[in-house]
Parts: sequence; C-alpha cells; structure tokens
Amino acid sequence: MRIPCPYCGERDAHEFAYLGDATLTRPDPAAAEAEQAFHDYVYLRDNPAGAHEEWWYHANGCRQWLRVARDTRTHAIAAATAARVSGEPA
Ligand SMILES: [Zn+2]
Repeated sequence: MRIPCPYCGERDAHEFAYLGDATLTRPDPAAAEAEQAFHDYVYLRDNPAGAHEEWWYHANGCRQWLRVARDTRTHAIAAATAARVSGEPA
C-alpha cells in the first residue's frame, strides 16, 4: 500500500505508523459516565469493511500526522490530508 503524503508525495506504507480511527472523539473526563466512556474509547473498536478515516504518522519521512480516507477492503486511498488542516489526532 502506498500513502500520498501531502508533504513528501506518494510513499510506501512501511514509512508510516498507524494510530487508528480518526472519527473517535475523546470523552469529557468530567462527565458523569467518564469511566465507562473512556473504557469504550480505549478498548472498543469497530472493524469496518469499506470506507474508513484513519490517523497515520509519517515516522520515516516528514514526521507529520495525516488523516487518511482508506477503503479497508481494497486499501484504495481516497484522500490524505495534513492533520493540522483536518484536526489533530485524539
Ligand atoms: Zn511525509
């Protein structure tokens, strides 16, 4: 799989580290159900077949975080944008 880094161009996926789902939102630690919300946030993950938004870190390149829209069935990448543009990783 090759990822089109907006800073470096298209690079092999081995240069990147995968963080995870970019659609999750960190729970409010002051909320009444914070403990359960953090448990779900940390341990419960979906395993989608199809379009997925993910955080990737270009560890062996520009060292920038990217938000990547990838199809998990085909590994086709629809978009890769800088995290600073699309929102920081949680
Ligand atoms: Zn890069």
